[in-house]
Amino acid sequence: MQPPSRRIRQRRAAALASVTLLTLTISTAAGSGRLTGDTPNTGGPVTLAHTTGHGPCRISGPLDVQLSEGIPTGPGYARSTGTVRALNLMVDFPDAPGQGSALTRLAEFFPQTQEWFTTSSYGRLDYRPEAPITRWLRMPRPFAGYGIARGAPFEPAYRALAQDIVAAADPEVDFRSYDLVNVLVTPNAGPSALDTVLSVTFAGNADAPVADGVAVANASFVYSRQDDGSGSYGDTGYRVLPHENGHVFGLPDLYTQDGGGAVGHWDIMSEDWGANNDFLGWHKWKLGWLDDSQVGCVAAPGRSEHVLSPLSRAGGLKLVVVPLSARSGYAVELRTRGGNDEEVCRPGVLIYRVDAGVDTGSGPVTVFDSKRNSGGCTRSPNVHAELSDAPFGPGENFEDRRRGIGISVTGTQAAGDYRVLVTRR
Ligand SMILES: [Zn+2]
Repeated sequence: MQPPSRRIRQRRAAALASVTLLTLTISTAAGSGRLTGDTPNTGGPVTLAHTTGHGPCRISGPLDVQLSEGIPTGPGYARSTGTVRALNLMVDFPDAPGQGSALTRLAEFFPQTQEWFTTSSYGRLDYRPEAPITRWLRMPRPFAGYGIARGAPFEPAYRALAQDIVAAADPEVDFRSYDLVNVLVTPNAGPSALDTVLSVTFAGNADAPVADGVAVANASFVYSRQDDGSGSYGDTGYRVLPHENGHVFGLPDLYTQDGGGAVGHWDIMSEDWGANNDFLGWHKWKLGWLDDSQVGCVAAPGRSEHVLSPLSRAGGLKLVVVPLSARSGYAVELRTRGGNDEEVCRPGVLIYRVDAGVDTGSGPVTVFDSKRNSGGCTRSPNVHAELSDAPFGPGENFEDRRRGIGISVTGTQAAGDYRVLVTRR
């Protein structure tokens, strides 16, 4: 076995959404009028936030952004609330025959992936993994014959593979019954994930082959094993699948060409190696896992105080958004150890910028580091260290002087909640 690698491999940003589909996604939210409630225009007494107008906080991106942070998510992706049925197909090849039982491959991802979504969504996503074919599904061509490489496009490599998968499974599977497809490739096909991560998702893919009258438009392909040799594979190896399924639900990659330096370990779309971590609150709102009453929207000038409850716990205020434009804004949330957030070494208020005009893999989210160049507080392998102590603690402030925006952590409360004061010129 290779020595553990602390380097986090990048996965290609590869969700494809057709531009035609995206033309339908123009948000109607921005026109929903005035904010009422939490933002008095004077510098007077602080009011507790209860916000009724979220329109200005539902930022949205231009049409040429394939996978946008904008709300609402465009059509064509799998729905992310209620019962979602996931078809799992374990495939192998003549030159890479599956070793052991196909159900053993399935068990590398379940029930953990299902539990991960139940926890992250506070029970709002009822993820039902199904495997109607319990054996390896043998592809007609050798793996090498498909031309699957990192960055391979849908045409022609993945189209051929997807067509062969559909043809092999169709006699035993009714594709109309499923919301998304997980293709769990035998780990001996292709390179080790330590060398190249091939795992990829085609989401909202209008060019997908049709089976049983429905396009297989949302499919995640998982290769190899994300095993860094640290002995944690059994606990963390499944995490590539919630990441890939995040694309199926319309989420972009948050890592960039430089790796996890924009968001660190604060979202599984940034880092899916290493210890468990959750989605950002922004993603939970986008996915429909937070009610509007759990999101404060600070669009008007004034001062407002917000009591944030930990993102890992159900209920309470989870997110405060300070819009900067129709496309971007600051998001504020409380991250503590709990739920899917196993590796939080400095709990506190995470502040980040969301830009719906920036595409997947180009840095649509940027986390602000309260302790720059500190080296971070984590000792966990494959967790971006520098940003691990990014959250702001009591008495610390974030300031955007140019725009006249201040975000201060003013204190904590008995239940573990944090008070945050937002000022806006
Ligand atoms: Zn990805």
